[in-house]
Amino acid sequence: MAEETIFSKIIRREIPAEILFQDDLVTAFRDISAQAPSHILIIPNHLIPTVNEVKASDEKALGRMVTVAAKLAAEEGIAEDGYRLIMNCNKHAGQEVFHIHMHLLGGEPLGRMLN
Ligand code: 5GP
Repeated sequence: MAEETIFSKIIRREIPAEILFQDDLVTAFRDISAQAPSHILIIPNHLIPTVNEVKASDEKALGRMVTVAAKLAAEEGIAEDGYRLIMNCNKHAGQEVFHIHMHLLGGEPLGRMLN
């Protein structure tokens, strides 16, 4: 059984976070250490430690994460200029919190990461 992280406490509203969206499958909240004018984390409500543990039964929640990312990008006013969605997996990607999360970053030019 995977260890809960701070994100489970945010989902249950046991610790404060600026929650922008929550439904039966996912929760979205502002990153505590924003790396861009809009920096939002979108997570499944159930614990999946890394992308390596994703199963077919998680597909509904993962699909909802993308739908919510698009909705929040529109609400943040960054949809037209554009934004980046990132999921880090394990140490080479620098994953720090082992409850999968999608970073939504935008609000300024982000620079190229891939060519
Ligand atoms: P990772 O490096 O695992 O992809 O990203 C983890 C993210 O979670 C980081 O951007 C970090 O700032 C954010 N984070 C860590 N702890 C908290 C917290 O307690 N509250 C919020 N809102 N964000 C957090």
